[in-house]
Amino acid sequence: MKIAFIGLGNMGGGMAANLVKAGHEVSAFDLSAEALARAGESGCATFDTVPEAVAQAEAVVTMLPNGAIVRSVYTADVIGKAPAGALFLDCSTIDLATTREVAALAQDAGYAMVDAPVSGGIAAANGGTLTFMVGGEEDAFARAAPVLEPMAKAVIHAGQIGSGQIAKMCNNMLLAIHMIGTCEALALAQKAGLDPQTFYEISSKSTGYNWSLNDYTPAPGIGAKSPADNDYQGGFASALMLKDLRLAIKAAGDVSATVPMGQHAQAIYEAFVENGGGGKDFGAIFTTL
Ligand code: NAD
Repeated sequence: MKIAFIGLGNMGGGMAANLVKAGHEVSAFDLSAEALARAGESGCATFDTVPEAVAQAEAVVTMLPNGAIVRSVYTADVIGKAPAGALFLDCSTIDLATTREVAALAQDAGYAMVDAPVSGGIAAANGGTLTFMVGGEEDAFARAAPVLEPMAKAVIHAGQIGSGQIAKMCNNMLLAIHMIGTCEALALAQKAGLDPQTFYEISSKSTGYNWSLNDYTPAPGIGAKSPADNDYQGGFASALMLKDLRLAIKAAGDVSATVPMGQHAQAIYEAFVENGGGGKDFGAIFTTL
């Protein structure tokens, strides 16, 4: 298949490489010359502009930093420039309103579009083991699934357009909350005189078990291997967790949902990022307790 890929950063670079490995013809564009050169080394054809990259595409995949950039790329350079009937897949994590607005503009111009944000970080993007949560019509999902599969461990149809973003923001709000709770429990156990490894052995097999504790233990040298064992380098940056929490809390405000724990998690990550922790893995909240 002819696939255009726009946004070849930390995530998109590996994703585009996996599409090439699956035998697709991938035409790539990124504002960064460095990112574009890496895509060329992975076997993508590289282009100087978005319209040139999408000119022959049957599917256009975008993996961009935020909603404003997604809106401007689609409205200025993809809609009306890609061949009629092409399928658009936005894999970026962005706000619901922009997702729905861009999809409506695409549909009005005769294109099908899905939102397909991902769970899994850079290692999963490189390894082709991302989980895609996909929002869109049934027939758009049926067309999107084979495009996503070479990059995926799982491709799940979440519902109508925007449902992927809803799933993603709710998942990551929950992740932030159980990460902070796990950090608090580990720190309290230790301060109260219990060996934290013993606490891990007990709680990971008791009702406190959860992914942050069992599979990504945020205390150095305790439990599962995680970025905590490497001074919180790599992993999922706190700044990206804060971005996702802001999207969730904004959406909660828009629909009058009550999310006190989500709001508290946002305040905790805001303070951590303001104090210079943005580049550290999100488990580094442990070091603040
Ligand atoms: P990144 O900053 O590494 O990559 C984004 C790329 O987009 C950059 O190479 C940048 O040059 C390019 N870009 C920016 N504006 C552009 C434009 N107008 N036209 C073309 N290219 C443009 O970010 P990332 O970590 O790859 O994240 C991408 C998306 O994936 C974000 O929405 C993020 O929230 C989401 N995400 C990231 C992770 C992660 O662990 N990094 C995990 C899940 C989801």
